[in-house]
This record gives sequence, C-alpha cells and structure tokens, in this order.
Amino acid sequence: MNRIAKSSLLIITLFATLCTTAQSVKEPTNTDPNWSKSYPAFRIAGNLYYVGTYDLASYLIVTPVGNILINTGLAASDKTIKTSIESLGFKLADTKILLTTQAHYDHLGAMSAIQQATGAHMMIDEADAAVAADGGRSDYAFGDTVSSFAPVKIDRVLHDKDTITLGGMHLLMLHHPGHTKGSCSFLFDVKDDKRSYRVLIANMPSIVTNKPFNNIAAYPNISQDYAYTLKAMKSLTFDLWLSSHASQFDLHRKHQPGNKYNPAAFIDRKGYDTALKGLEQQYLKKISEQ
Ligand SMILES: [Zn+2]
Repeated sequence: MNRIAKSSLLIITLFATLCTTAQSVKEPTNTDPNWSKSYPAFRIAGNLYYVGTYDLASYLIVTPVGNILINTGLAASDKTIKTSIESLGFKLADTKILLTTQAHYDHLGAMSAIQQATGAHMMIDEADAAVAADGGRSDYAFGDTVSSFAPVKIDRVLHDKDTITLGGMHLLMLHHPGHTKGSCSFLFDVKDDKRSYRVLIANMPSIVTNKPFNNIAAYPNISQDYAYTLKAMKSLTFDLWLSSHASQFDLHRKHQPGNKYNPAAFIDRKGYDTALKGLEQQYLKKISEQ
C-alpha cells in the first residue's frame, strides 16, 4: 500500500469510527410528549424535591455534603434537570450519587451526560448493571444492536436491601425485578419541622414484553420475578408514595405548579394498592394466556 492509499485508509477509518460513535446511541423517537414537556420543580417533603419532566419523574435529595439524583429522563433532560435544580437554589455540580429505578432509556437517557458533568457515582441494582453499561443493548425486551441511551459507567453495584448513605440520609434499595431484571424501589425517611415521613419511590411492575413469559430465553425467571415483586410490594409500609412516572402515582391530580408545600398530598396508600392490584391483574392475565 502506498502513502496516499495508507492515508486515505486512515481517513476512511476515522470517518467510519466517527459515524459508528454518532450512530451507536439511537434514542427511540415518537415518545409520549409528556415525557419531554418541562415541569416546574418543587419540594415534595423535607429535603426531597421533584426535578423531572411532566411525566418522567426525577428526584433530588439534598444533604449537607452533596445531593442524590434518582432518574434522569430522556437524553434531552440533562438541560431541564439542571434548570430545575437551579430553580430550587441548588447546583447540579453538587450531585454526588446517581440512582435509577430501572435501566430503560426514559429514565437513563441523560444519566451519562450528568455523570460526566458532575463526576457523581452511579449505583445500580446488580441485575440492571450490564444493561446500563451497554446502553440498553442487552435489555431482554428492547435490546437491539444499537444503544437506546448513552452507556453509563457503574461505580457501585447494589443488592437487595443494600443501603445508600450520604449526609445523614439512608436509602434502602429494594430489588423489584420484572419490568427490567434489576428494577428497584427506594425506601427512606425525610423530615421537615413538623414530622418525618417514610417515602417510597416505587418502580411499579408494569409489563413491557408482548411475548409469552415462557418464551423469553433472555429472561427465563421473568414470571417468578413479577410474582415476587408484586408480593413484596404489597407488604411495604410507607407514608408518601412516588414512582418512576408521574402518571403512575397521579402527580398532576395531587399537585399543581405553584401549590404551597404540602407533603400530605402524597399520602395515598389506597392509590398504591389499587395500582398494584391492576398490575397484578395484568400479570395474571398474561400468565393465563400462555
Ligand atoms: Zn421502563
């Protein structure tokens, strides 16, 4: 090969690499407009704040030594989350720990960008670690040859009932598999000048695959996992109920932008039980069809 051929090959190789990098993350389009619609951030209870979009819930827990951010929404949410955090008087740069309730692109889309911007440590349920690290390519339901979100660097793998500690906060991670193999919920206490509240940020176990459960080679235990999660979630006790999507816990009926601080708006055991019952019926229908 002569010099010209060599340098052309180099240029072609470089170009191909750039194209691969640009194409390697392909976030699904035509998503629910409510996932992208911005929404005013607000204080939920004590040091817990809502910083998500209209439907994709992101939560900020503020402590004296830095903050915890749970879920990031779609890729474009890196800007809206920063704006939301600043509107509350806090700084994105103070984020120390990143968490997610499930490794899907609608909750991890902006995670890598926020991780790079803050240097915060990503902690994730063991069973979602691989999917998060490959940008969703190995997801049992939505897996593809391209990533649906930018791969996330994992700093700590979490197991059922592990505790995440920062600045006096203790979050209990509860392994609630099914929706993804490592879906999880977080249970923790916050307090204000009147009282303390036990908060549950729940990953509600909705079903994402159209395939029969006995025909998913990539997830042979899926049926047992949903059964486990439904049972485990029924027995939880808490004061305030939140979840991965605002629509799941009826945020917009409970809170309107500009409302004054009112943690009690999120006391809703009945709503939680009804939602779980509906999901259990979906599960029972699914397994009866196979
Ligand atoms: Zn999902």
